[in-house]
Amino acid sequence: MSISISVIIVGGGLAGLATAIGLQRAGHQVTVLEKSPVLGQIGAGIQIPPNSAKVFKGWGLLDELEKLSIAPNIGVMRSYREMKPLSTLDMGEKLVERYGTPYLLTHRVDLHHLLAKEAERAGVDIRLGVEVMGVETDTSSQQCPLVRTANGEQSLSADLVFAADGERSRCRGSLLGHEMPWKDSGDHVLRATVPVQILQEDDELREFVNDLNFWVGPESNALTYSLKRDGLFNVVTTGAHAPDATVQFAPKPISQEEALLEFPGWDPLFHRLLRSSTIYARWTLLHTDMPSKWTNEMGNFSLIGDAAHAMLPYTGQGAAMAFEDAATIGVLFSSIKNKRQIPDLLTIYETMRRPRVTEMHRRVKQVRDIYSMPDGPKQQERDRQLREQGPFDGYPNFLADPVLQEWMFSYDAFEEAQKALEMFQKGEFPGTRGTWRLYM
Ligand SMILES: Cc1cc2nc3c(=O)[nH]c(=O)nc-3n(C[C@H](O)[C@H](O)[C@H](O)COP(=O)(O)OP(=O)(O)OC[C@H]3O[C@@H](n4cnc5c(N)ncnc54)[C@H](O)[C@@H]3O)c2cc1C
Repeated sequence: MSISISVIIVGGGLAGLATAIGLQRAGHQVTVLEKSPVLGQIGAGIQIPPNSAKVFKGWGLLDELEKLSIAPNIGVMRSYREMKPLSTLDMGEKLVERYGTPYLLTHRVDLHHLLAKEAERAGVDIRLGVEVMGVETDTSSQQCPLVRTANGEQSLSADLVFAADGERSRCRGSLLGHEMPWKDSGDHVLRATVPVQILQEDDELREFVNDLNFWVGPESNALTYSLKRDGLFNVVTTGAHAPDATVQFAPKPISQEEALLEFPGWDPLFHRLLRSSTIYARWTLLHTDMPSKWTNEMGNFSLIGDAAHAMLPYTGQGAAMAFEDAATIGVLFSSIKNKRQIPDLLTIYETMRRPRVTEMHRRVKQVRDIYSMPDGPKQQERDRQLREQGPFDGYPNFLADPVLQEWMFSYDAFEEAQKALEMFQKGEFPGTRGTWRLYM
């Protein structure tokens, strides 16, 4: 018979809540500690590619997610100069037929609330306003990891702890024994939102409403799409920028004039779009190397989501990787027979997930280089390939690249975890410590 274990998850972001759902559904008692007094208050749009949507489908939440989302008909790559499409990808039914799930565009607040509601429904204990100062796993008095909170009286222990406290994770320092430095990636994000009605009333801007549009410019690019919530049209750009200490950690509001200055030489239509925006903010994209390990020596404390593998946003797959982590962990812990198996299950989790996110990091860098090419012969050749050649392995429209698309979108985290669990139960999963015998 399977047993139930106690789990503490530090951080109630997308990774923390999704993993809480996976574990609670697997029969465990999960507590989420979140430092913010409210859940998921910030952000605008987020893309949920088919591999990400598969996790929601597996949990029976896809219908609800679709109600909160827009599914674009096509994905269009455009040049910053003339707005003429360079390459177009059918993102509707064809993607669903091929991968079993749609490509969705959702407001982050809606996504967060969907996860929080499901976590609560499943029985997860979500505690808000609890800041974690660190995790101790080598106490001689007890074997369980101890989670130290800012209010020491609330320190808690559990059989297993996951740190989902984001890119600048404090818990990661407890696990590694040192802080991991973050760097300025050299790129800034600029976000603007436009009431979608303004686009609908404009003969030229209207064509952008239903699709996902990527605009490629010199050392910068922009992504636009509509959101269901509040009838908003989301504009998010990334571009090379001089360091600016005032925008390192949080979006800083900027004026319309400042926003427009970021795009010299862009088509007047793009400027018109920006002039129609109501809210502008800018912040620095951080870069953190992937930690050398995600799991402690004792095998009872692991990193998940951005705390383990934060990535720059160029492939729109950061949260997707966190959802895949969550589905994987849910399956691996679904039939645990003995607490002694926890270290082996964490070894399997890390062994499975590390190669996939490492490859995603490599792809992110490639996509950034392709999408931010300065004007010149390389950019001209890129645009020629986009215009004149059909998709091929290495095609510059990364969503249409058949090899990359298949690799990204066809991944089914539930299936992969099930296969790994079966290997482990036969004593065949490499690197585990022999606790598969406890299944017999
Ligand atoms: C511009 C941009 C666009 C993106 N677009 C996409 C996209 O389209 N699709 C996609 O899949 N991904 C996208 N991503 C990536 C995605 O946003 C992240 O991968 C995802 O939000 C990470 O979730 P997380 O829960 O790991 O971390 P976070 O979202 O950082 O959550 C961490 C949580 O932990 C809490 N916390 C932190 N420290 C403590 C503490 N000491 N004690 C208690 N709680 C604590 C925080 O308050 C927070 O709630 C994008 C990222 C950026 C920057």
